[in-house]
Amino acid sequence: MSRIQLLPETLASQVAAGEVVERPASVVKELVENSLDAGARKIEVSIQRGGISLVRVVDDGCGMDADDALLSLERHATSKIRSVADLAAISTLGFRGEALPSIASVSRFRLTTREAGAVAGSEIVVNGGRIVTVRAGGEAPGTQLEVRSLFFNLPARRKFLRSANTESRNVEHQLQLQAIGHPQVGFTFLRDERLVLQLPPVASLRDRIRDLHGAELVARLLEVKASGPQTKFEISGLTGRAGLGRSTRSQQLVFVNGRAIESPVVTGALREGYHTTLMKGQFPVTFLFLKMDPMAVDVNVHPAKREVRFRDPAGVREAVVEAIRQTLESGRCDWQEQFRAPEILPQAQTAAAQIPSSFPSMREFEVNVANLHRHFQPSATPEHEDREELRGGGPALNLVPKSAWRTAAADDSGELPAEQKLTAVSHDHQFQFIGVLNKLYVLMENANGLVLVDQHAAHERVLFEELRRRIEEKGVPSQRLLLPQTFDLPPRDAEWVERNLSTLQKMGIGVEPFGAQTFKVDSLPTFLNSPDAATFMRDVIDELRSASNSSSSVRLGEDMIAKTVCRHAVKANDPLRYLEVEKLIRDLLECELPYCCPHGRPTMIQISNAELEKKFGRKV
Ligand code: ADP
Ligand code: MG
Repeated sequence: MSRIQLLPETLASQVAAGEVVERPASVVKELVENSLDAGARKIEVSIQRGGISLVRVVDDGCGMDADDALLSLERHATSKIRSVADLAAISTLGFRGEALPSIASVSRFRLTTREAGAVAGSEIVVNGGRIVTVRAGGEAPGTQLEVRSLFFNLPARRKFLRSANTESRNVEHQLQLQAIGHPQVGFTFLRDERLVLQLPPVASLRDRIRDLHGAELVARLLEVKASGPQTKFEISGLTGRAGLGRSTRSQQLVFVNGRAIESPVVTGALREGYHTTLMKGQFPVTFLFLKMDPMAVDVNVHPAKREVRFRDPAGVREAVVEAIRQTLESGRCDWQEQFRAPEILPQAQTAAAQIPSSFPSMREFEVNVANLHRHFQPSATPEHEDREELRGGGPALNLVPKSAWRTAAADDSGELPAEQKLTAVSHDHQFQFIGVLNKLYVLMENANGLVLVDQHAAHERVLFEELRRRIEEKGVPSQRLLLPQTFDLPPRDAEWVERNLSTLQKMGIGVEPFGAQTFKVDSLPTFLNSPDAATFMRDVIDELRSASNSSSSVRLGEDMIAKTVCRHAVKANDPLRYLEVEKLIRDLLECELPYCCPHGRPTMIQISNAELEKKFGRKV
């Protein structure tokens, strides 16, 4: 007797359902995608008990005639593709012709549908894959689908469902995805007959996100700007400013031709684009839309169509990285608007030019780098000398220490030039230096309120960017050691160093092989000032090796620099004089990404007047 048998149709559908229908949220996904493909302008979704008891989707799309309504429940019946060529270039969300029969085989299912101009509509009721009723019905144009008692005939699957709350949350997340992917469509979501979401059709993604997540988040998002040779892909959307991160990927949404997808290629590219602007373990907030020729992306990879295969993954990656970089860069200008750079006033410019810069000038890096450490030694100048500098006809900087002008105003001897007082008071829209807290945080005020700068993080950022430029341009200045040092490494490390010699050398580390597993180092970057070159090398190799396990080679270099710089930047508790602070802030604001250190910690925090008023109970 033959052992192989064709499965009965219903059983085959239930097998297929295993892949397509995992939980109520997948039912919602499939039904909403069908509504979108049907050109709906309004979609209403209701669920009960997390969608386990009921999922209902009502749309105002094109509807189906009686024959199509029946056909739609057949396996592999679809109106969306007809040929292999169509399969290669899919522009609809659905195409597999599996969802409706699969869902109908594992639930109590009711479909009513009517085409706009039709006299009557149709109603079909299916019970666990068996059609029980087909009749003419008179519903409004569009389609209504009801899915009750999901998995009632598959107890094993039913057991895998989570609590009603968890399933509801999954459904809501799914709906948010669709809503963000299609702002021009109105969405309503009812949970156990309570209205949860009411999203009117809107013109832009920005409006949709405002309706979903509030204006506060929108204010922290940047329009994704992708200029340049972007012939193949169009990238648009909104993405968080540097520093805006979440501990999960729940707000990192990626759409390809309107379809929400999960793509390691794009996720990796986002991480790389944000690179040092987010803290480790944080994910950017991104609503990214890629538009490309349907031929350039294969969506037929996974039954749930969550994954895609790009024909040119490297191209996609590059385009996304570039778009994110450009966007963050553009966001920097807005930021500067907000945190207006301290300006030297016109009458003070000549005087300012003469200030002996006590803070290491990043412009004169090459000259100064060797002396870097000296600048950050606890200031040799007693504090009153600072004041001296101010009083002695010093420049009327906008960063006049608040304490200084306050005292001066009270002091009739008027040692502080009169116009200086005025300057300090009248330019309240810019930064006013208040003081330094804990020898670490620079306190300033601007029109919005209090600004705190972490001087360590700030200096780290400034040095980091300078170093990165140096590496790209002429290399990092290095200093020969009096006595070259040698060090031995275990074979795996030795091999690693050999492979990365040029990267190390570009960073100003003069290292070369000196025997099988021995290396010689004869120069180090000038700013390092490390007493023991061999120990330093071992530390660096450890760091670089662990970084290289997780990064591409470009990032490897930058990670390394960031770490090195971090260790050699201004240490917390090194007091800076106020002119140094002023210089630091100025340099910081000239950075590409001024608002966080290379490790993603913030460099500046603004505490707004409104927040202060709230805290003091002046305002509710
Ligand atoms: P697919 O979406 O992959 O084509 P489905 O099983 O989800 O397969 O749907 C089968 C067919 O039923 C679709 O191709 C479409 O023609 C029709 N259909 C399903 N849902 C709707 C709807 N809400 N409005 C109009 N037509 C629909
Ligand atoms: Mg479908």
